[in-house]
Amino acid sequence: MKEIVHVHIGQTGVQIASAVWELYCLEHGIMPNGVAVDQQGGSRDSGANVIFFPTGGQMVPRAVLVDLEPSVVDEIRTGAYRRLFNSEFMLTGKEDAASNFARGYYSVGNELSELCMDRIRKVMETCESPQGFMMFRSFGGGTGSGFMANICQKMKRDYAKQSHLEFSVYPSPRVSTVIVEPYNAVLTAHSTIPNIDVSFLFDNEALYEICARLLDVPNPTYTNLNRLLAQVVSSITASLRFEGSLNVDLIEFQTNLVPYPRIHFPLITYAPIVPVSKAAYENLTTTNLVTSCFDPSNHMIKVDPRDGKYMACCLLFRGDVNPNEVNEAVQRMRKTIKFVEYAPTGFKVGINYMPPSFVPGGDLARVNKALVMLSNTSAITPAWSRLNNKFGMMFKRRAFVHHYVGEGMEESEFTEAQEDLKALEHDYSDAKLCNSEYETPSDLYVSWMEDSIRSTVEVEAGLKFLGQRGTGRF
Ligand code: GDP
Repeated sequence: MKEIVHVHIGQTGVQIASAVWELYCLEHGIMPNGVAVDQQGGSRDSGANVIFFPTGGQMVPRAVLVDLEPSVVDEIRTGAYRRLFNSEFMLTGKEDAASNFARGYYSVGNELSELCMDRIRKVMETCESPQGFMMFRSFGGGTGSGFMANICQKMKRDYAKQSHLEFSVYPSPRVSTVIVEPYNAVLTAHSTIPNIDVSFLFDNEALYEICARLLDVPNPTYTNLNRLLAQVVSSITASLRFEGSLNVDLIEFQTNLVPYPRIHFPLITYAPIVPVSKAAYENLTTTNLVTSCFDPSNHMIKVDPRDGKYMACCLLFRGDVNPNEVNEAVQRMRKTIKFVEYAPTGFKVGINYMPPSFVPGGDLARVNKALVMLSNTSAITPAWSRLNNKFGMMFKRRAFVHHYVGEGMEESEFTEAQEDLKALEHDYSDAKLCNSEYETPSDLYVSWMEDSIRSTVEVEAGLKFLGQRGTGRF
């Protein structure tokens, strides 16, 4: 049994837990009180045991839910699924992180982090052969950014052999509920890059548009977005839980999707996204699923895949799919998209027999097949540039920085994070360009650093010249 432990952090992480576990329960015939409808659900080799552990006649999620303040977790503690989760694995503090990375990482978060590690250890003790972690959070919130960064370091230290995957809400290009989101996002990306193996990003603006356009939900709520996301998560773990002709496990994901350790932010697309009202008219062929997943408007983060080159594409089919049709659809698509030179045939295909589950009262129609595409592409570079620019504009003026310094952070951490994320932006463009002259992105990074050091020296010389003339600082 290759178990997976889910860790849900902050408001986003915990609210996504509601949608993900609602779907998992439906898929495995488990009632909201944890009792398996079909006794098979609780048997020793049931696929459900990958994510649930059977105890006292109940199936308990192998999951830790944690937030620095109690209100969001309290909704689960008092809601329909209150008897599903083990109360010991739902952890809350008294004070929230106030949208501040430093409060989540240092002051407030540090107090709760050892307790959280203790609960993760207890869940790990329920596993025979744990394969990895799936973590859920936002980049923009104080808990999601700071507390997650703190916990991630400890998890990597204690569980280095397991895979560490995350699903994170990335700051949207235009709308934001948190002004200091760019600070939190850059600081958390900087701290978690070495401790996470694969990071699946999505932004709420892209999800809102998908829900409005394809699901006829003009004003989507977080519940709409989270339920859509739950289908993606379920498809990714389906291969570990259900039979399939070509099942792909977590380690295989990593191997196929991540050409270099830092280049680990694949894009996500899901098809079909069909509302209940239109289900009868949809022509659901394998080719249609593949075409929809490559449609730029269906990507769960606001970037255009045509602006970059693919390093790898993982196509995870589930349900009633014919391998020959998959093969044909992939061959056709291969002719129309651009791969980097060093991975000319970068498709990895998984096929699982279990179709997606239908959530009563949900937006998505019942369908007999679905596809999740996870693609590592340099087209994500503009999303990093956008974030870095917003960070740079605020940091140039040192706006809001005192809130972070007041919670125990050094200003130099801002500078380090800024440089690291600029380097990531370059790593991505370089990963696209890799050719015989340059072997790896790191070589290119060294070359870029040499250039930038040269230009820094020039800028410094210029500044010194201006300073001598009495113009002082900008
Ligand atoms: P935290 O509890 O301090 O980590 O803060 P949040 O999780 O509320 O982070 C704020 C960011 O998360 C904002 O960009 C919100 O739009 C987004 N967000 C909050 N709740 C949810 C949710 O349930 N689902 C999604 N998709 N995004 C959320």
